[in-house]
Amino acid sequence: MAHREKAHAMRALEEEIIAKNSTPELAEQATQLVIGDGNLDAEIVFIGEAPGKSEDEQGIPFVGAAGKFLNVMLEEAGMNRNDVYITNIVKYRPPNNRDPSPSEKEAFWPYLLRQLEIIQPKVVVTLGRHSMGYFLPDAAIAEVHGRPYKAHFGDLSFTVVPLYHPAAALYNGSLRQTLIDDFLKVPKIITSI
Ligand code: URA
Repeated sequence: MAHREKAHAMRALEEEIIAKNSTPELAEQATQLVIGDGNLDAEIVFIGEAPGKSEDEQGIPFVGAAGKFLNVMLEEAGMNRNDVYITNIVKYRPPNNRDPSPSEKEAFWPYLLRQLEIIQPKVVVTLGRHSMGYFLPDAAIAEVHGRPYKAHFGDLSFTVVPLYHPAAALYNGSLRQTLIDDFLKVPKIITSI
């Protein structure tokens, strides 16, 4: 798909999600839907959990404290937010930043796959257990973090790299270093595919 077609398809998907309103309780309490941010021609897509307060206000994923940490790690790994695409499994902010429920995640999963169909990335990096759970259902993050796994969903196939969530790692010294080390492996994984 050409870039213009991708942009059109992503806007249409965004309108469809809003119109179908499959999580009315979340939609009602959120300021806006946060569909995603970045390059629709990206080779790599990062998937977090759900928008927080700043994301809900600005309509852009990962712009708060976790987002600033993500930006630093991207830069250190030689990547730029303009080269990648960033989204979340759940696209409305859960009230008081509570964990998204299984039914909320389920409601958004087909839309996430449609975003990946539009972008056609080589690599999907999951940030935290909420997005990892759908791509690698039986995996334990402590065992699989930083390692590449092949995944297939219908006609889609890509490599999944599960990482810890930047918000969890931000204030935990050893987890923080593990996440940074894993992050630095991602460019090598992309070139090895
Ligand atoms: N945490 C997430 O999982 N997603 C965001 O967009 C921001 C913080």
